[in-house]
Amino acid sequence: MDRVAATAPTRAVACGTLVKRGAVSRNSKHRAPPREPRILAPRAYAWAVSAFENPALAAFVARLGGERVVAQVRVRREATGFEVRHADDRDTPAEALERVSAWNARDLAQAAVGGDFRPLKSAPTLRRGWRILVRDAGELGVALDRLYPGAVADWFASTAADVPVTNWTEFTARQSGMYRITTLLGGPSLAALVAETCAPARCLKRRLWCAPSAPADGDAGKSLIPCLEPCALMLEAARARVRVEQDSARG
Ligand code: SF4
Repeated sequence: MDRVAATAPTRAVACGTLVKRGAVSRNSKHRAPPREPRILAPRAYAWAVSAFENPALAAFVARLGGERVVAQVRVRREATGFEVRHADDRDTPAEALERVSAWNARDLAQAAVGGDFRPLKSAPTLRRGWRILVRDAGELGVALDRLYPGAVADWFASTAADVPVTNWTEFTARQSGMYRITTLLGGPSLAALVAETCAPARCLKRRLWCAPSAPADGDAGKSLIPCLEPCALMLEAARARVRVEQDSARG
């Protein structure tokens, strides 16, 4: 299984920097521009991203150095622009790799080898055999956002003095409808679910959100992409687990 050692920031993050209900977004001021523009052609969109002067993207490029690994991809600075390829294809001759446009990087992220849909883009199942050449930071931002949606923005948010991370109690208290019961999950049950769902073999995001029984991840086996809030898969897994526990309690 492809796995890339983490290069995430190693400073401690206080668990439970609560996000207030009704806040616009947990890191809205660092968010990348819309991911699915309908009226801009790819080149125009990349230009717009550059023109927007996205501070997260600017910080990422400033700290890139010669190259940097983001989860399973390696970003390398070229004489003009950047190259993105699977980190495990580091030593593969360029001519042996399929050229993919930044705009089409989403196709790579959508399906694993064999065609299975990848519901979690941070799963360590990104397929190999391709390379993306981009001319500038704007196009690089497009490529990375299509491979790992929101990753650069979340990484940038995680470098702030006050990391906008939530915790399980606060997060589940905001749920409604069928997910309201996730407030009932805690203690060893939650710890077991986190260990299963968020393990490096399942997800390369470094989990910064936490619970009393599930402290935040270290960087072992994880990437520089932080997880600031439980994802939809985690939420659904929690709902299902509560249901199972309720059913077994009823006999
Ligand atoms: S909650 Fe975060 S770390 Fe866990 S599986 Fe979802 S994205 Fe990955």
